[in-house]
Amino acid sequence: MEKVIIVGSGCAGLTAAIYAARANLSPLVLEGRQPGGQLSTTTLVENYPGFPDGIDGPELILNMHRQAEKFGARFSYAEVTDFDASNKHVRIEADDEWLETQALIIASGASARYLGLENEQKLIGHGLTSCATCDGAFYKNVPVCVVGGGDSAAEESLFLTRFASKVYLIHRRDKMRASAIMQERVFANKKIEPIWNTVVTEYILDEKGEMRAVRLRNVKTNEERELVVACVFMAIGHDPNSRPYRGKLDMDGEGYLITKNLVESKHPGVFVAGDVADRVYKQAVTAAGSGCAAAIDAEKYLRELEH
Ligand code: NAP
Repeated sequence: MEKVIIVGSGCAGLTAAIYAARANLSPLVLEGRQPGGQLSTTTLVENYPGFPDGIDGPELILNMHRQAEKFGARFSYAEVTDFDASNKHVRIEADDEWLETQALIIASGASARYLGLENEQKLIGHGLTSCATCDGAFYKNVPVCVVGGGDSAAEESLFLTRFASKVYLIHRRDKMRASAIMQERVFANKKIEPIWNTVVTEYILDEKGEMRAVRLRNVKTNEERELVVACVFMAIGHDPNSRPYRGKLDMDGEGYLITKNLVESKHPGVFVAGDVADRVYKQAVTAAGSGCAAAIDAEKYLRELEH
């Protein structure tokens, strides 16, 4: 029987782990197969308070990990597949093993969204990716494209200009939703060419089964054309990782968990933090803040349970 299990090791999960560990609860963090969450695949984080010169996402996450470990958090790469709160204690299934816990903090984050086109799954890692930091350096002096119009698309496009000969930014509308400062940087960079009002309708493969080009359709004129790119970087948002809780915890139509009082789920002892429940802010600092709140509330819940 665990006191506190934390699902997820991004900003929210690790902040919850720091607070729970400092409350002497020796939390068990189930990191899953992609530890570190979204910050581990990003570049410079310029808006996390306390770092006026910015800090690399992976470094920030590594620091949080070390900080949680220092106070006694334990870590496992196990991936959560099921959840049961029908009895007094909450149980979760991770890597075919059921674990029982007095309190659970779900901070499982969100995963990159893809378009759902033919050949998509087999192209991931072969000219299709959602992580410019991970894969950008493989595409030196060749044209690539980024799909999306948000901060991620802006950030990835700018990062890719270090390697690629040309970065096409393909967006379905004629205005980006990225923050003003990111838009300014994108438009000032000669290597980035925005392609407005346009969607990708097909991936075109070479004889090795890798990305050769994409078929584009202008949504205003319906005109189609082929664009030669060595890699497509997808930046069209994320879907919450809430599958194990489907039908058992309240969630909205898109799968975001619904909380009351910031981090409480409908089950006593089950708390929720970070992007898995955040369809609005999705920032590292808000994820960290809700992770902190979840750990404080979990500690309070356990204290009341004891009495
Ligand atoms: P986002 O803000 O939700 O933007 C997603 C973009 O993808 C939008 O432009 C959207 O188009 C487009 N899109 C969505 N579904 C699509 C589809 N099926 N086909 C084509 N295009 C599609 O996601 P994000 O850029 O990942 O950012 C998420 C959050 O993280 C935001 O709050 C952002 O501010 C934050 N973030 C911040 C930074 C930073 O501060 N440097 C960096 C990265 C992320 P529409 O515009 O037409 O909806």
